[in-house]
Amino acid sequence: MKPVLALTLAAFFVTFPLLAEREEVTSEIFHLGTKGLPEWNEFRSSEPHGRNLSVTFEAKANQEESTLFIRQDDVKQGWRVSLNGKRLGNLERFESKMLHTLKVPAKTLKDGENRLSIAAPTALDDVFVGGAFLVNKAREDALRQSFLEVRVTDSKGAPLPCRITITNEKDYLMPLQVEASPLVAVRTGVVYSLEGKTTAGVLPGKYLVYASRGFEYGVATAKVRVAEGETRSIRLSLDREVPTEGWISCDPHVHVKTFSGHGDSTVEERIPTIAGEGLELPISTDHNHHADYGPYQEAAGASAFFTTVIGNEVTTKVGHFNAFPIKKGAPLPNHETESWKELFKSIRATPGVEVILLNHPRNVHSNFSPTDPSHFNRASGESQREGGLEMDAIEVITSAALQADYTGPFEDWFALLNAGKRVTAAGSSDTHDVNRYLLGQGRTYLQCPDKDPANVDLAAACRAFREGRALVSMGLLTHLRVEERFEVGDLATKLPSKATARIQVLGPRWVDATRVVLYGNGLPIWESEVESAPNAITKADLKVELPKFTHDIHLVAIANGSGVTKPFWEIPRPYQHKSKEYVSRVIGATNPIWLDFDGDGKYTSPRGYAERLVEKKPMLAETLAKLSDFDSSVAVQVAALLTVRGVDLKETKAEAAWEKASPAIRTGFSEFLEASP
Ligand SMILES: [Zn+2]
Ligand SMILES: [Zn+2]
Repeated sequence: MKPVLALTLAAFFVTFPLLAEREEVTSEIFHLGTKGLPEWNEFRSSEPHGRNLSVTFEAKANQEESTLFIRQDDVKQGWRVSLNGKRLGNLERFESKMLHTLKVPAKTLKDGENRLSIAAPTALDDVFVGGAFLVNKAREDALRQSFLEVRVTDSKGAPLPCRITITNEKDYLMPLQVEASPLVAVRTGVVYSLEGKTTAGVLPGKYLVYASRGFEYGVATAKVRVAEGETRSIRLSLDREVPTEGWISCDPHVHVKTFSGHGDSTVEERIPTIAGEGLELPISTDHNHHADYGPYQEAAGASAFFTTVIGNEVTTKVGHFNAFPIKKGAPLPNHETESWKELFKSIRATPGVEVILLNHPRNVHSNFSPTDPSHFNRASGESQREGGLEMDAIEVITSAALQADYTGPFEDWFALLNAGKRVTAAGSSDTHDVNRYLLGQGRTYLQCPDKDPANVDLAAACRAFREGRALVSMGLLTHLRVEERFEVGDLATKLPSKATARIQVLGPRWVDATRVVLYGNGLPIWESEVESAPNAITKADLKVELPKFTHDIHLVAIANGSGVTKPFWEIPRPYQHKSKEYVSRVIGATNPIWLDFDGDGKYTSPRGYAERLVEKKPMLAETLAKLSDFDSSVAVQVAALLTVRGVDLKETKAEAAWEKASPAIRTGFSEFLEASP
C-alpha cells in the first residue's frame, strides 16, 4: 500500500503545486499607545509597549507578491505599516477585532532578517496589534484554497436575506474572498446577502459562522474547521424572535459613499445591507443630496423587502437636519443659510417634506452643536438662536455617532418637551459604511400597518413620526401603556386616582435588559432592576402604580442593558468623546403618553403651567406661593419665564426668597440658572 500512497501524494503535489506557505512574523499581541495618556480608562491597566512597534523575523526573499496577515483591534486612527522600510499601507480604521491583510510587493522580503514596523499617528489612539504571518501568495490566491459555503434559510427552508459573520474562535473578523455581485456586500468577516448564501474563500483553520438579521431575528451559529483545499458546507436556519406587528422598522438616517463621499458603502451595497438587517423603511439622507435607492433596489431584485424613501440630510454650519420624504426632482433646501428661521422655512417649502429631524444634537460639526450650552439652555429647552428649534423630531440615539453618556440627547429632548415643543424622539444609525457602523442598529419603530414591507403607507408612517407614535430602539424595544388603553402618542384623560402604567421590554435572545426607568416630565419617578430569564424575548413585563400628580405630565419609559459585544452586532464606541469612560449599552425608549392628571381634557406642558403661573409683571413671592404643588420641571419653566419677564433670580433678595422655598422649586431654579448660557 505504501508506494501507492506515495504515488498519490506525488500526483497531488504535481496537480496543486501552489500550496500556500506560511511564515510567522510574530505570535505576540502588542498594546500600542501613548504611555500615561490612555484613549479610554479601560486601557489604564495595561502599559503600552510604546507608540511604535518594530519586530524582526526570519524569512525568505519573495519573487512574487505575498500577503501580510495581521491581527488588529481598536484602531481608530491611521497607523502606518512598513516592511523593511517599505510602506505597505495602514491598519484598517476599525474599532473591533479583525485579521487585516496587506499586500507585500515582490522583492520586499529578503533572505534572513526582516523588519516589520508600525508607526503611531499623531492623534491619541490605543490599539492592539500582532499575531502576524506571511503567506507567499497574493491575497486572492491565498484565500482561494479553502471555502466555506454558507446557506441561510428560515425554519421553513426559504432563503432569507441576512448577514453572515465569519470569525476565528477569538472573535476576530476573518479575511474572505467572495465574488462581487449586486446581491452581496462584503467586508472582512462579513457578507450581507440578499439570497442568504455565500461561498467564501478563507484561510484554512477553525471558524465561527454566525447568521443574523438585525434586531428582530435570532442568531444561528456554527463552529467549523476547514482544511487546506477543502470546501465545508454550512446550513443555518434563522427565525424571527421579536414580535413587531403593527410597527414598521425605520432607519431615518442612512448614507452611502456614492453620494456623501465618505464612509465605504456604495449605493449598490446598501441594498443587501438594508435587507440583511431587516429594515422595512430606510430613508436615504445624504448630505444636501436627494438620493433615490429605488432603481438600485429594483436592479438587485430586492423590491419585496423594503420601501425606500428619498430624504436629505440638510447639512449646514448650524446643524444637520434630516428632511423627508422628498418628491422626485425637488430642489435642494437652502443649506447655506446660518439662520434657523430661514432654514426651517426653506426645508418646509421643499416639495413632499413632512418630517424634519434634528440629527445627533450634541455632536460638534463645523465647530457647532445645536444644543450646546453656550446658546441652548439644557434645563429649560430655550434656544437663544433666532427662531429656535422648530423641528418635528430629534435623534436621541445615533448608533454611528454615539455619545459617551447616552443620556445627554435624552436630556435635551426632555427639556424641549418641557418647553412645550412637540418633538418626537427617534433612533437612527447614521452609518456611511457596510460594517464599520451597522445599518439600523439605532432605529425607530413607527406605528403603521406593516403587512407589506414593499408598500409601506408613507403618509401613515410620517404621521406616526410627527405624532410620536414611535419607539426608539438600539437592541431593545420598550412598550408603554397607561390604564391598558393609552399608548405612546396618546392623550390619556379621565384617569382614575390610582393610574397604572405597564412597561414591556422586548429583545432578541442575544440581548439582555437590566434596568427600566419611568420618567415624568423628564424626571425619574420610578425605576427597577430587571432580571430577564435566559433566552426570554419578553425581558420585563411590569405594572407600576403611578405616583399622584396634581398637574399633567409626559410619561416616558427607557430600558437599558449591557451592550452587545459579539461581532455580528457589536455596539460601537462613541464617536466624539471628551470622557475616557464608556460603558456600552443597549437601549429601548418610548415616546411620551400625555397624562391629563389635572382633568381638564387636554395636556398642559410645564411651560404651559408656567405661562399660567407667571404674571405679565410678576411678583416673585406670589409666584413661588402658587408653585408649591408642582414638580421641578415646572419650576424650571417658571424660572425661565420670570427671567424673560425681567426678574433677576440671582439678585440677593430674590435668591434668598427662592432658596427658602420647597425642594422642587430650589432644584428647578438652580438647574435653570446653572444651565443658562
Ligand atoms: Zn450629520
Ligand atoms: Zn448623517
